[in-house]
Amino acid sequence: MLPGVAQRPVRLQPRRARALVRRLLAWFAAHARDLPWRRTRDPYAIWISEIMLQQTQVKTVLPYWERWMRALPDVGAVARARSVTLHKLWEGLGYYGRVRNLQRAARRIVREHGGRVPERFEELLALPGVGRYTAGAIASIAFNQPRPVLDGNVTRVLTRLFGIAGDPREAQTRARLWALAEMLVQEAARLREWERPCSQFNQALMELGALICTPRAPKCADCPLQTACTAHRAGRPESFPARRRAAPALRKRVLVLVLAYRGRFLVRQRPPTGVNARLWEFPNVELAGSEAGAGPSRDALRRALCNGQPSDAPARRDTGPLPSTLSRLTTLQHSITRYRFTLDVYGGEISDTPPRWPGRWLSLRQLQRLPLAGAHRKILARLMLR
Ligand code: SF4
Repeated sequence: MLPGVAQRPVRLQPRRARALVRRLLAWFAAHARDLPWRRTRDPYAIWISEIMLQQTQVKTVLPYWERWMRALPDVGAVARARSVTLHKLWEGLGYYGRVRNLQRAARRIVREHGGRVPERFEELLALPGVGRYTAGAIASIAFNQPRPVLDGNVTRVLTRLFGIAGDPREAQTRARLWALAEMLVQEAARLREWERPCSQFNQALMELGALICTPRAPKCADCPLQTACTAHRAGRPESFPARRRAAPALRKRVLVLVLAYRGRFLVRQRPPTGVNARLWEFPNVELAGSEAGAGPSRDALRRALCNGQPSDAPARRDTGPLPSTLSRLTTLQHSITRYRFTLDVYGGEISDTPPRWPGRWLSLRQLQRLPLAGAHRKILARLMLR
């Protein structure tokens, strides 16, 4: 264990808490990034930014947020939007459950709160897709309430600052971190000299984690909390927070078929639940280890064209003749969480009227308007270049 590292609840004296809060607020006032959702107090705009920023970097979110706010400027617009519009606006951000929850929450806000994002923490927490972190972020950032936030950045700053050695995914350590975040934001609320101190303080904590107290090579020399920081004193800031070993990556091989008939391409929509739910894709199927390498077998083609159904499924009887001349278009690598996909993309023209394979035949223009799963968007981009 490192010297000074905490195993018990951290006691935080009000004077020390106040000093930390003041330093952080002053640093934020001088160094905060100018982000568009920081120029507004509109709780709707802040809510959208918080949902987009989950698991996603600021620079990725910026164009998405701008586009979303132009297309759907208020809660009512989200509640009324078509599913395809929402998914297209979210296309590429991943974790598509977020956008479906956004619409469910928007509809509830219209129904129960007259279209205005509620101020009460408990009402925020009751919205679909809004957990303790997001409710705390909206309550504090938009409404300046003394509610704590605890995301990855805040966890890193607090574990290092207070030398908390436990794994933040364990309940006891998490509870300790929430308690510390709460003590600090409540201390911020007492500072009358600052305008909207709870809002500023929580953003400051997150900003410090994003810009200075980074996972690798934290810039302790530029940190306003350096003299108070346990991990810095111990000389090993990167040892915090404690990490479990990452699960090993899982490799998968997928056959993708790009079939063209009279200038249209066969695509289908994914089911309403699961990974990439409701997004569109070219017919594809996961290959068994023994199928990888050589060209696509007749069985793999058939499985891809009938939505991966097993060989004895009734739908297979309707697949008709398989395309006979296919050529390899490309091989793509794509990752989702710990899965590493290699996609063997084969394509071919169908000259006779195609059998009734599941899916729709759409032009390139129509495909561009649809929300496509990530790897399939890359395939479409290549088709557009041909
Ligand atoms: S001194 Fe270093 S480790 Fe400590 S909070 Fe600042 S950046 Fe993080």
